[in-house]
Amino acid sequence: MSAIYEPNNRKILHIDMDAFYASVEQRDNPELIDKPVIVAWPNERSVVCAASYEARKFGVRSAMSVVKATKLCQNLIFIPPHFEKYRLVSSQIKNIFGRYTEKIEPLSLDEAYLDVTDLRRAKSATEIAENIRKDIYSEIKLTASAGVGPSKFIAKIASDWNKPNGICVVKPQDVISFITPLNIRKIPGVGPVTEKKLQTLKIETVGDLRYLPESQLIAICGKFGSRLFQLARGNDQSPVRNNRLRKSISVETTFEQDKPLSTLGKSLEPLCEKLWALMISKNLNAKTVSLKFKTSDFQALTRSRTFQELIPSLDALLIAASLLLQDNTLPHNRNYRLVGIGLSSFENPNDSSPQQKLL
Ligand SMILES: [Mg+2]
Repeated sequence: MSAIYEPNNRKILHIDMDAFYASVEQRDNPELIDKPVIVAWPNERSVVCAASYEARKFGVRSAMSVVKATKLCQNLIFIPPHFEKYRLVSSQIKNIFGRYTEKIEPLSLDEAYLDVTDLRRAKSATEIAENIRKDIYSEIKLTASAGVGPSKFIAKIASDWNKPNGICVVKPQDVISFITPLNIRKIPGVGPVTEKKLQTLKIETVGDLRYLPESQLIAICGKFGSRLFQLARGNDQSPVRNNRLRKSISVETTFEQDKPLSTLGKSLEPLCEKLWALMISKNLNAKTVSLKFKTSDFQALTRSRTFQELIPSLDALLIAASLLLQDNTLPHNRNYRLVGIGLSSFENPNDSSPQQKLL
């Protein structure tokens, strides 16, 4: 791979629905239009699954605790999630994508990459993106934002640029000027930990990142360092993959202060919800639940259980998690710094053959 920007002629779209779950609820109940709505389970330990733009004005964001959201906005309207409905709408959106290309990579129920390099009868990728947005609005009565660029990396950042209900087009020759001033947190995969490490080296923007040699980025970020080196130069060759098979998904919490085992159940409840919402958003169904722990002396432990049937509900997941937590072999005499929960052994409920056979 090169140490300079290598333009390519692929045409990639990233289509992202605006405040998806909240917008579906507002569409289906006109009383909610123009109101600060959050989609969340009615429970004070819950997290926000989605927030309408009216709620976002108060600083409410998805993945925020419901308690914090309520403090930010007193008039918040709570709607419990209706995931079956979101799945249905998502499949309608995917049908629209299918009119324009077969190369579709869904990232979740509300966003996908499309490779439209083969333009068919359209004049440009921009025209396709605009047509898709129009189709979605006229047929499904929801708004989507679009990013158009020569790679998934650029398209993904661009779709966020003019949100909601907007489009941003980045031509191959404009890639470097587009990414250079961006904060490093805009790069998918750069989280708060990597950000902190880079900030100590006075690296704030994607442009700054280009001062670091690849070897130093690898020393800081491990394997991701090489990819970061290329992304900083606008290079991303990753293809749009139709059937991306996931092996597992997980969420975790690191405590500010280490906690005894007996108190971890409290932390697991919001994690279960977050994981359940994540699983549904990825359109997955799982048979295996795993708990992951780290003790204060950094010992890593996992406990898992595979069920014969797909886990049918959030309640079933909560029960499975609390049973795993009661495992007698977990050390009681130590404190814990981290707890996490994961799902794996994914299967399609309508498909009798397990996914593993496809691998
Ligand atoms: Mg979205």
